[in-house]
Amino acid sequence: TAVLDAPACRPAPVLALAPVVGADVSVPATGHPAGVSYANLDYAASAPALSAVAEQLAGALAEYASVHRGAGHLSQVTTARYERARETIRAFVGGRADDTVVFTRNTTDSINLAATVVPGDVVVLDIEHHANLLPWTRTGRARVVASRPSIDETLAALESELASSPAALLAVTAASNVTGEVLPLARLAGLAHRHGARILVDAAQLVAHRGVSIASFGIDYLVFSGHKVYAPFGAGVLVGRPDWLDAAPPYLAGGGASANVSVDDVAWHTGAARHEAGSPNVLGAVSIAAAADELRAIGFERIGEHDDVLLRRLDAGLAALPHIRPLRAFDDGVDRVAIASFSVDGRTPREVAEHLSDHGIGVRDGKFCAHPLLTKLGHADGAVRASFGVGTSSDDVDRLLAALADLG
Ligand code: PLP
Repeated sequence: TAVLDAPACRPAPVLALAPVVGADVSVPATGHPAGVSYANLDYAASAPALSAVAEQLAGALAEYASVHRGAGHLSQVTTARYERARETIRAFVGGRADDTVVFTRNTTDSINLAATVVPGDVVVLDIEHHANLLPWTRTGRARVVASRPSIDETLAALESELASSPAALLAVTAASNVTGEVLPLARLAGLAHRHGARILVDAAQLVAHRGVSIASFGIDYLVFSGHKVYAPFGAGVLVGRPDWLDAAPPYLAGGGASANVSVDDVAWHTGAARHEAGSPNVLGAVSIAAAADELRAIGFERIGEHDDVLLRRLDAGLAALPHIRPLRAFDDGVDRVAIASFSVDGRTPREVAEHLSDHGIGVRDGKFCAHPLLTKLGHADGAVRASFGVGTSSDDVDRLLAALADLG
């Protein structure tokens, strides 16, 4: 049974738009052996909506009107919901009172926005998801540092890069989407600040698994996506210091971002509105806030224990299978969120994923939008990734291990 077995911890299919408390996500008929229940081990790609999120979303969907534009009662209610979502998310990530919380489409969008506001060079590691690499490299101001075999050596390499010439920003992932390895955020923030740089944290893979505090870790900017935290697709956030955001041109030009417009001039808003032109994704914002509330209610201590139990079970099982090769970026046993990538001797990642699918197990295969890391780890042709969330049970892990044993 799932370690977190309270009904609210189980995901509900969001498309039902109804609370499906405790419902199993059932196997679609096509391509799966009938009657096999579905083990979704692909939470790192997108985590299924929690029942509480589906409920909130259904409520918001049932009655909404324009935001920030209408005096009508429903417009006011919708605007209040949208702005409340901002405050809930600020609290969820431990933001400072004056941090700007900008709603975006997802992590990728948040980092592309950040790339338009940073006034100088950006230092990044080569282990990043492309979302935290390509927006920087295409500015022509990125300095990519090769990760080293250990976290300590990697931090030393970053330190020497930042010391060698000034950079405006260090942009790092909080947890690798390939290996689940967690980076030491407070140490990285201290390191960046010592050299006059700010830090942006790609928390896409962290926020569903660990509590984070922008203020106490010393993070300047933090980004993540709704669909990785048990909310639907289409909304994400960037939370961080207001000065660069207010000094930069709006990310998109249009209504909502502009305070005063004549045919030959425009005065732009400051604050979140500056970068949120157009009608916003209110339902997405409300859903992220609902997910944040629910994760806090479940508690990151319980979630962390749940992850650990499942990861230990998986690691032990994989270690007993000689044809499995796990992927790790660092050799010093760093903390990991519930993500594990591996290859299987003699099988392509796609063959493995299809075999698992035949057993009703959903995993991700490929290069996980992290080509430089996969190449560096000797897996340029890709790997297989299993990832867990609050609805995962030890039985799911055992099914994965049994199906992998068949491939030996
Ligand atoms: N960063 C990391 C670490 C990720 O795992 C992902 C998605 O897999 C992203 C960024 C991009 O997220 P999105 O596709 O929601 O923009």
